[in-house]
Amino acid sequence: MDFRGRQKKLRAALDQRKLDALVVMHLPNVRYLCGFTGSAGVLLAAPRAVFFTDGRYTEQASAQVKGVRVSIATKGMFPAVAAACAKLGLKRIAIESEHLTVAQCSDLEKVLGKGTKLVRLAGAVEELRAEKEAVEIELLRNAVNLSSRLFRPLLKALRGGAAESAVAGKLEFMARRAGAERMSFETIVASGKRSALPHGVASAAKLPAQGFVVLDYGVVLDGYCSDMTRTVHLGKASAEARRLYLAVLDAQQAAIGAVRAGVTAGEIDRAARQELKRARLDRFFTHSTGHGVGLEIHEFPRLAAGSDTILRPGMVITIEPGVYLPGKCGIRIEDMLVVTERGYDVLTPVSKELLELN
Ligand code: ZN
Ligand code: ZN
Repeated sequence: MDFRGRQKKLRAALDQRKLDALVVMHLPNVRYLCGFTGSAGVLLAAPRAVFFTDGRYTEQASAQVKGVRVSIATKGMFPAVAAACAKLGLKRIAIESEHLTVAQCSDLEKVLGKGTKLVRLAGAVEELRAEKEAVEIELLRNAVNLSSRLFRPLLKALRGGAAESAVAGKLEFMARRAGAERMSFETIVASGKRSALPHGVASAAKLPAQGFVVLDYGVVLDGYCSDMTRTVHLGKASAEARRLYLAVLDAQQAAIGAVRAGVTAGEIDRAARQELKRARLDRFFTHSTGHGVGLEIHEFPRLAAGSDTILRPGMVITIEPGVYLPGKCGIRIEDMLVVTERGYDVLTPVSKELLELN
């Protein structure tokens, strides 16, 4: 991991805005910039950067943190940050405005000297994180492969009468046994009428003998998240169920086909929506088409209607259109992709053919 290179890029972005430093508190951002994976730490990103943590992490920080000095704060993080700012003569200090609470913001303001100014800055590190390095793409691929390998064995747990939570439990047990650190978000097992809930976290509901089951899950491996969705059908699918499934699959493939560096996120979203419009299903597609994924499950960029964010090579995104008929059923299909100069590289190797399970 090129921590020094990342810190340098961040400093260039701060220089551009005439900022002396950024107080990095969002832990995935801290990890990205200096390698620390613990639960308490603040990085003062500045020309002479300092990482502050507490006594519990002395050993871990000295082993993990790269490219910055480590300091153990004995009287609280913010007083230590303020002292360093005074010592280094830092005047215009940025905070991650989307991550700090109002209380943290005023606490920090209180300890900083009169001559310093707090500036709100959003998304500076997230912007860097959007474009993955080759080594990050490999780690994401490993996470995707681990979760993909669980898909076939997971199908064995799908039987009419089984509780959604039991299905999720089997999956999560298999994931941990295969080496996953944890699931990257709460596993979604949404069956029958519940499949119409776009975010149907596994419940006590029992799988029906007949109908769709949406399985949306991912694992964290080496800190990187995977995310995939497949929708399968218990019993034989009716002609209408098959039509719905194929419409979602067409929309997903149309959106994937539109991916390449230089197009806007909005164009990808539109490709999926247009395909569903053709099937008169666009009004049932009620969320955005995808999102970036990396150290966090939802990252920049967002692939939403009207987004003018331009896709760049190395961005890793999901494409996940869905159709949800309230009270009836829902279908979603989701893959992870890397954006390349000329197109894309689909990471998720799992078949998308409609599976009818007996
Ligand atoms: Zn998902
Ligand atoms: Zn997703």
